[in-house]
Amino acid sequence: MNFIDFHADTLYRLFYRPQGEAGDLQRNSCQVDLERLASSGYAAQVFACFLDIEKPPQTDSCYGDVLGMADLFTQQVQKYRDQVRFAGNYNQYRDNLSHGFISGFLSLEEGGVLEGQITRLDSLYKKGVRIMNLTWNHENCLGYPHRPPEFQKKGLKPFGIDVVRRMDELGIIVDVSHLSDQGFWDVVRYGTRPFLATHSNARALRKVSRNLTDHMIRAVADCGGIVGLNLYPAFLAEPPSHNVDAILHHLKHMINQGGRQSVGLGTDFDGMDLPPTIKDASNMPYLVQAMEQAGFSSGQIEDVCYRNAEQFFQRYWSES
Ligand SMILES: [Zn+2]
Repeated sequence: MNFIDFHADTLYRLFYRPQGEAGDLQRNSCQVDLERLASSGYAAQVFACFLDIEKPPQTDSCYGDVLGMADLFTQQVQKYRDQVRFAGNYNQYRDNLSHGFISGFLSLEEGGVLEGQITRLDSLYKKGVRIMNLTWNHENCLGYPHRPPEFQKKGLKPFGIDVVRRMDELGIIVDVSHLSDQGFWDVVRYGTRPFLATHSNARALRKVSRNLTDHMIRAVADCGGIVGLNLYPAFLAEPPSHNVDAILHHLKHMINQGGRQSVGLGTDFDGMDLPPTIKDASNMPYLVQAMEQAGFSSGQIEDVCYRNAEQFFQRYWSES
């Protein structure tokens, strides 16, 4: 089975650990590496440059750390070009797939590194960034995250609205995972293109602010976007569960709400401490097996695992 995963924090793991300690993109002690992606049959992995802007940067600035992670990605993709190739749009993805290469997309999980400078978006685009979370879990120059509760009512800041508009122009996909509810609705209001919630589940099933309400799931779907299923146990069930039934429950609910074309995968591998039932990228065939046993049709399974994501990329970039 082909898989496309919209979110993994592997670059963060590789970049912040002492030189080479975690291994590299080919083989490492994280949850995603090229060997495991290949063994499951992945078509594409989105690699996030994630960082906590309230922790001291490794370089001279948070923005410097992001550039460092992007450079690490580029250097690793170059080194292992017999297995993986950069993809910056749908056509490159298709081309990589037809030549048997895994596509590596680059994303950024913290719009705060723009530090009020919108031209940094152009530089990040040149570095290969094609998806960006407006916030992580801290307030930043764009807006507010999903917590604490009072942030849910706070929308995008004026700079955040400018950033959404510029991302739409450049072709950097807006990612609303981690964003406040009001920020989400501002993206719906001010955005002009399909957007993603790369790694969020259904709040109707697990009431945490990181998950999306049914209304939000339908809004993502209505604009042609995708919600990526997150395997983080605390976003699946209470008490936190690794049970595959909880995963399938969210999948079914999100498909019921947004429709069959609106759900994909955003595993959050390398962003979680607890090993779920599906503990790394090599276990993804187990998800397929569980979906088969739960009565999902082969067409539905293909949609969730890669086809919806593929069609999203096509839809998004054909508008450019
Ligand atoms: Zn995240």
